[in-house]
Amino acid sequence: MSKINVIIYGATGSIGRSTLSIIRSNREKFNVQGITCNKNYKKLIKIAEEFNVKKLGINKRINSKAKELNNYTVYEDINSFINICNNKTDVIIFAISGLVGLDLFHKLCKFGKKIGMANKECIISLGRNLSKLSNENSTTIVPLDSEHNSIFHLLDHDHGSFKSITITASGGPFRKLPLKSFNNISIKQALSHPIWKMGKKISIDSATMVNKALEIIEAKFLFDLEESQINAIIHPQGVIHAMVNYKNGITTALLNKPDMRIPISSLFFKFNGYLNKNNQLDILEYSKLEFYSINIKRYPAIKLGKEVMKIGGLAPNCFNYLNEILVNYFLKGAIKFTDITALNEINLEKIFTKNANIMSPNLVDIKNINNWIDKNLYLRH
Ligand code: NDP
Ligand code: MG
Repeated sequence: MSKINVIIYGATGSIGRSTLSIIRSNREKFNVQGITCNKNYKKLIKIAEEFNVKKLGINKRINSKAKELNNYTVYEDINSFINICNNKTDVIIFAISGLVGLDLFHKLCKFGKKIGMANKECIISLGRNLSKLSNENSTTIVPLDSEHNSIFHLLDHDHGSFKSITITASGGPFRKLPLKSFNNISIKQALSHPIWKMGKKISIDSATMVNKALEIIEAKFLFDLEESQINAIIHPQGVIHAMVNYKNGITTALLNKPDMRIPISSLFFKFNGYLNKNNQLDILEYSKLEFYSINIKRYPAIKLGKEVMKIGGLAPNCFNYLNEILVNYFLKGAIKFTDITALNEINLEKIFTKNANIMSPNLVDIKNINNWIDKNLYLRH
């Protein structure tokens, strides 16, 4: 059997690490064509040595004449990363964090390949255009976000009587924190997720639950759903990531331990892949599986995300882009935890009093409004 040629964009991050772990346990089945990072090039070289990778993408300017890079073809700057992909590529893992990868992802969607898509930000900003783009170019987008990956598999079975979906949230680190303490949440507290070990941006998004708000919108665009067909609930154990509800009263769910290698592995081997005795689900380990509705006072981002989804057009992109900027401000200590969502709402209002919404935005429209946001961001409150 020929090997699966895979490229990992964002190989040095958390999703990159999980992907490499699967490849490590199945070395004979894979050829890693290329790997990329932002600036962590020493880590990238280590990965290249271990997996015998020849093409490296490094975004931040480093001395590309550095001796240790002599043996590699190096693509400097994210704009040149597209050149790593070629006709032989079978699977692309897209695990660069944030909207910085938007252009690259847009171009990759034209290659007619299978893309394991971790980056929800690009899905949300492209909105409805994504399915048009991927369909026109015979590109398959397999969502790696655990919730959407579950739905992707559950929907494999029967579409006819489909009614709605339910995605779950762990509730993050502040599920039980008294509301009056939210004003004083520190960066360190917000970064410590009870279940998942992830990159910084998505960890903060999980604490504010912007992550779940983004995932609600992500589900709309990936599965072409009406707002009323998407439910989100809290499930602290993180064993059921999503469910599909049918008209006849049946709900189907996938159960698996919270380990990103499971959804990523399904991209390559479906139900036959990643096998590790520590990750097999023993349901008896769970004396109870709990489910709660989401308290909007605790997680105002859910309400805002739903409003944004209803408005449509450029609004999901603006919510997403503002959040990325505001999370960076929070991580620098410049704004409070609660400001992340509060300032998002204030800025959204400002954007749409000064700019007309565009209901079916293209890439240029998205870039234009994001430039406007860069110039007009409001940070007091
Ligand atoms: P990490 O922060 O751990 O990794 C991000 C990766 O992107 C790193 O390889 C980083 O390189 C690279 N990168 C960052 N900025 C740039 C840039 N400007 N140019 C080029 N490369 C860049 O993030 P995660 O792996 O946690 O998340 C990746 C994506 O997957 C996000 O969109 C997230 O929402 C999504 N996701 C993640 C989950 C998880 O469990 N981690 C679950 C579901 C979705 P460097 O190391 O040099 O900084
Ligand atoms: Mg998720």
